[in-house]
Amino acid sequence: MEIGSDGIPGVALTSKLDLALGWGRKYSLFLYPFVTACCGMEYMSVACAHYDIDRFGAGLPRFSPRQSDLLFVVGTISHKITPVVQIVYEQMTEPKWVVAFGACASAGGPYDNYATVQGVDTIIPVDVYIPGCPPRPETVLDGLIKLQQKIQTRKIEL
Ligand code: SF4
Repeated sequence: MEIGSDGIPGVALTSKLDLALGWGRKYSLFLYPFVTACCGMEYMSVACAHYDIDRFGAGLPRFSPRQSDLLFVVGTISHKITPVVQIVYEQMTEPKWVVAFGACASAGGPYDNYATVQGVDTIIPVDVYIPGCPPRPETVLDGLIKLQQKIQTRKIEL
Protein backbone atom coordinates (compact mmCIF):
# COMPACT_ATOMS: atom_id res chain seq x y z
CA MET A 1 0.00 0.00 0.00
CA GLU A 2 1.38 3.38 -0.99
CA ILE A 3 0.32 6.95 -0.38
CA GLY A 4 -0.73 8.71 -3.58
CA SER A 5 0.29 12.24 -4.55
CA ASP A 6 -3.10 13.44 -3.27
CA GLY A 7 -2.42 11.95 0.16
CA ILE A 8 -4.94 9.13 -0.33
CA PRO A 9 -3.72 5.58 0.30
CA GLY A 10 -3.63 3.60 -2.91
CA VAL A 11 -1.75 1.13 -5.05
CA ALA A 12 0.48 2.22 -7.91
CA LEU A 13 -0.34 0.02 -10.87
CA THR A 14 2.61 -0.72 -13.12
CA SER A 15 0.82 -2.76 -15.71
CA LYS A 16 -0.64 -2.64 -19.15
CA LEU A 17 -3.57 -0.77 -17.62
CA ASP A 18 -1.18 2.17 -17.16
CA LEU A 19 -0.23 1.98 -20.82
CA ALA A 20 -3.82 1.68 -22.03
CA LEU A 21 -5.10 4.58 -19.92
CA GLY A 22 -2.10 6.72 -20.82
CA TRP A 23 -2.64 6.04 -24.51
CA GLY A 24 -6.34 6.91 -24.24
CA ARG A 25 -5.74 10.05 -22.24
CA LYS A 26 -3.01 11.48 -24.42
CA TYR A 27 -5.29 11.29 -27.47
CA SER A 28 -8.38 12.73 -25.81
CA LEU A 29 -7.35 16.15 -24.58
CA PHE A 30 -10.04 18.74 -23.95
CA LEU A 31 -8.18 21.99 -23.83
CA TYR A 32 -9.33 25.23 -22.31
CA PRO A 33 -7.61 28.16 -24.03
CA PHE A 34 -7.08 30.92 -21.46
CA VAL A 35 -6.08 33.64 -23.91
CA THR A 36 -5.09 37.11 -22.72
CA ALA A 37 -2.77 38.67 -25.28
CA CYS A 38 -1.01 38.55 -28.64
CA CYS A 39 0.01 34.88 -28.38
CA GLY A 40 -3.68 34.25 -29.02
CA MET A 41 -3.09 34.93 -32.73
CA GLU A 42 -0.65 32.05 -32.86
CA TYR A 43 -3.01 29.83 -30.89
CA MET A 44 -5.64 30.51 -33.57
CA SER A 45 -3.13 29.52 -36.25
CA VAL A 46 -2.47 26.23 -34.48
CA ALA A 47 -6.20 25.61 -34.14
CA CYS A 48 -6.80 26.06 -37.88
CA ALA A 49 -6.99 23.18 -40.33
CA HIS A 50 -3.50 23.71 -41.78
CA TYR A 51 -1.80 22.38 -38.63
CA ASP A 52 -4.46 19.75 -37.94
CA ILE A 53 -4.22 19.69 -34.13
CA ASP A 54 -7.01 17.10 -34.23
CA ARG A 55 -4.46 14.40 -35.08
CA PHE A 56 -3.18 14.82 -31.50
CA GLY A 57 -6.68 14.41 -30.08
CA ALA A 58 -6.79 18.05 -28.99
CA GLY A 59 -8.99 19.56 -31.68
CA LEU A 60 -12.05 20.20 -29.54
CA PRO A 61 -11.56 23.22 -27.25
CA ARG A 62 -13.85 23.57 -24.26
CA PHE A 63 -14.90 26.86 -22.75
CA SER A 64 -15.99 25.42 -19.44
CA PRO A 65 -13.19 24.34 -17.08
CA ARG A 66 -15.41 21.53 -15.78
CA GLN A 67 -15.27 19.93 -19.24
CA SER A 68 -11.51 20.44 -19.65
CA ASP A 69 -8.40 18.57 -18.61
CA LEU A 70 -5.77 20.69 -20.37
CA LEU A 71 -5.28 24.38 -19.61
CA PHE A 72 -3.46 26.40 -22.25
CA VAL A 73 -2.32 29.66 -20.64
CA VAL A 74 -1.81 31.84 -23.69
CA GLY A 75 -0.35 35.32 -23.23
CA THR A 76 0.52 37.76 -20.49
CA ILE A 77 -0.87 37.10 -17.01
CA SER A 78 -1.31 40.12 -14.78
CA HIS A 79 -1.54 39.93 -11.00
CA LYS A 80 -5.08 41.25 -11.28
CA ILE A 81 -6.25 38.22 -13.25
CA THR A 82 -4.37 35.69 -11.09
CA PRO A 83 -7.44 34.66 -9.00
CA VAL A 84 -9.36 33.90 -12.21
CA VAL A 85 -6.59 31.61 -13.50
CA GLN A 86 -6.49 29.79 -10.17
CA ILE A 87 -10.27 29.31 -10.07
CA VAL A 88 -10.29 27.97 -13.63
CA TYR A 89 -7.51 25.54 -12.71
CA GLU A 90 -9.29 24.37 -9.56
CA GLN A 91 -12.53 23.74 -11.47
CA MET A 92 -10.92 21.51 -14.11
CA THR A 93 -11.39 17.76 -14.04
CA GLU A 94 -8.70 15.39 -12.76
CA PRO A 95 -6.27 14.32 -14.03
CA LYS A 96 -5.36 17.70 -15.52
CA TRP A 97 -2.43 19.36 -17.18
CA VAL A 98 -1.21 22.89 -17.84
CA VAL A 99 0.78 24.29 -20.76
CA ALA A 100 2.47 27.70 -20.54
CA PHE A 101 2.15 29.02 -24.09
CA GLY A 102 4.84 31.56 -24.99
CA ALA A 103 7.41 33.65 -23.18
CA CYS A 104 4.91 35.69 -21.15
CA ALA A 105 3.07 32.70 -19.69
CA SER A 106 6.37 30.88 -19.12
CA ALA A 107 8.37 33.65 -17.48
CA GLY A 108 6.74 37.07 -17.89
CA GLY A 109 8.22 37.65 -21.36
CA PRO A 110 9.24 41.25 -22.05
CA TYR A 111 7.11 42.56 -19.18
CA ASP A 112 9.43 42.62 -16.18
CA ASN A 113 7.25 44.99 -14.18
CA TYR A 114 5.07 45.25 -11.09
CA ALA A 115 1.86 44.29 -12.87
CA THR A 116 2.93 41.07 -14.60
CA VAL A 117 3.18 37.57 -13.18
CA GLN A 118 6.71 36.33 -13.90
CA GLY A 119 5.62 32.89 -15.02
CA VAL A 120 2.26 31.20 -14.50
CA ASP A 121 4.06 28.45 -12.58
CA THR A 122 4.23 30.87 -9.65
CA ILE A 123 0.45 30.53 -9.23
CA ILE A 124 -0.47 27.05 -10.61
CA PRO A 125 1.53 23.89 -11.55
CA VAL A 126 2.82 23.80 -15.13
CA ASP A 127 3.63 20.63 -17.08
CA VAL A 128 5.08 21.97 -20.33
CA TYR A 129 6.61 25.31 -21.30
CA ILE A 130 6.49 26.44 -24.92
CA PRO A 131 9.11 29.10 -25.72
CA GLY A 132 8.75 31.94 -28.19
CA CYS A 133 7.33 35.43 -28.49
CA PRO A 134 5.07 34.22 -29.92
CA PRO A 135 5.83 30.53 -30.48
CA ARG A 136 5.52 29.23 -34.01
CA PRO A 137 2.74 26.66 -34.52
CA GLU A 138 5.35 23.92 -35.03
CA THR A 139 6.79 24.74 -31.61
CA VAL A 140 3.34 24.50 -30.08
CA LEU A 141 2.80 21.07 -31.64
CA ASP A 142 6.22 20.00 -30.33
CA GLY A 143 5.11 21.06 -26.84
CA LEU A 144 1.90 19.09 -27.27
CA ILE A 145 3.89 15.98 -28.20
CA LYS A 146 6.04 16.44 -25.09
CA LEU A 147 2.89 16.66 -23.00
CA GLN A 148 1.57 13.46 -24.58
CA GLN A 149 4.81 11.71 -23.64
CA LYS A 150 4.38 12.91 -20.06
CA ILE A 151 0.76 11.72 -19.95
CA GLN A 152 1.71 8.32 -21.37
CA THR A 153 4.28 7.67 -18.64
CA ARG A 154 2.11 8.83 -15.75
CA LYS A 155 1.47 6.08 -13.20
CA ILE A 156 -2.12 5.32 -12.28
CA GLU A 157 -2.83 5.46 -8.55
CA LEU A 158 -5.90 3.84 -7.01
S1 SF4 B 1 5.09 36.06 -25.49
FE1 SF4 B 1 5.19 37.79 -26.94
S2 SF4 B 1 3.55 37.40 -28.41
FE2 SF4 B 1 3.12 36.14 -26.58
S3 SF4 B 1 1.76 37.36 -25.29
FE3 SF4 B 1 3.88 37.78 -24.63
S4 SF4 B 1 4.51 39.62 -25.80
FE4 SF4 B 1 2.68 38.75 -26.81
